[in-house]
Amino acid sequence: MSPGRDEQTTLSSLRERPAPLPGTQASAGQPVIGPPAALPAVVVIGTSAGGLVALRTLLVSLPCTLAAPVCVVQHLGRQPSLLPELLAAHCVLPIRFAEDDTPLKPGILVAPPDHHLLLDDGHVRLSRGPRENFSRPSINPTLRSAAQSFGRRAIGVILTGRLDDGTAGLYDLKQAAGIAIVQDPEQAEYAEMPRSALEHVPVDYCLPLEQIGPLLVRLVEQMVVRGGEDAPSSVRAESPMDHDERFDKPAALTCPDCGGATRAHRLGSLIEYRCHIGHRFSLEALTTAQRNALDEAGQRLLRSFGEWIGICDLRAAAGPVADQAEWSAAAANAGQLRALLIDLLDQPV
Ligand SMILES: [Zn+2]
Repeated sequence: MSPGRDEQTTLSSLRERPAPLPGTQASAGQPVIGPPAALPAVVVIGTSAGGLVALRTLLVSLPCTLAAPVCVVQHLGRQPSLLPELLAAHCVLPIRFAEDDTPLKPGILVAPPDHHLLLDDGHVRLSRGPRENFSRPSINPTLRSAAQSFGRRAIGVILTGRLDDGTAGLYDLKQAAGIAIVQDPEQAEYAEMPRSALEHVPVDYCLPLEQIGPLLVRLVEQMVVRGGEDAPSSVRAESPMDHDERFDKPAALTCPDCGGATRAHRLGSLIEYRCHIGHRFSLEALTTAQRNALDEAGQRLLRSFGEWIGICDLRAAAGPVADQAEWSAAAANAGQLRALLIDLLDQPV
């Protein structure tokens, strides 16, 4: 993904951009949805490839006095994970996998394998709703639910990772006047996720990893001091299963997860494709999926040609003699098509 603008200028200006105080970016006329009264803010940290090392560096700087819950979404898939144990030695805050229907409290909650971590009315909700960008847990639904529940008191952080999960969620968080932070992509192990967020979201801070923890501490302290004096605003952030009225026209693309029809949906400069049951894909993720589908289809066709040539050879050998020439010719023809296919599959797509 290319940044599409003068990256040096952009990153430089972002590094120097001061923090907007919570409550200074209200959007007029939006419905008011407040954060839980006892919590000054919530922090959502999303990461993927390279995330373990990055999280160890960031979380170690969060003190046990941090008054806001910290929700960590690392792409895990379905396999059992020891992520909280692997991070525990690098945290002074308590850390554990999030559990469904539990009150949201200060401490670190990790999205468990095969579940989206959602925030709802001061509680944690775990969802096995449709995967987004092939991921469950996915970063986007957690950021959306934080935007809905906490409005301008939601803080989103995007760290190292491939592709662009988290960008759409961070966009919604900014629509709710939250605070968006990304790791400096030039220092990230995998730059794609923070770079995508910078390209599509009006990010507040772009910082080296070592500076993000201290910034989070300052931001949460500011929100504690401000207390409830600023009424939070919120964009309507939907759950992964939600359907809303913002769909654009139907797209001539099927969902790579379920085969269903998709619609293109615009989030600022970002295009997101959603199927009728709720799978979501960025254009970047859809590109990867379709490229993989093309490759798999080509490999299946190659295998079918090989088996067909084998059948033709068997029939030519089995007789009757009158049919041998016809089966041999069929095998030779299929061999030529197979060779052509091998050449085609060598071409980049
Ligand atoms: Zn689908």
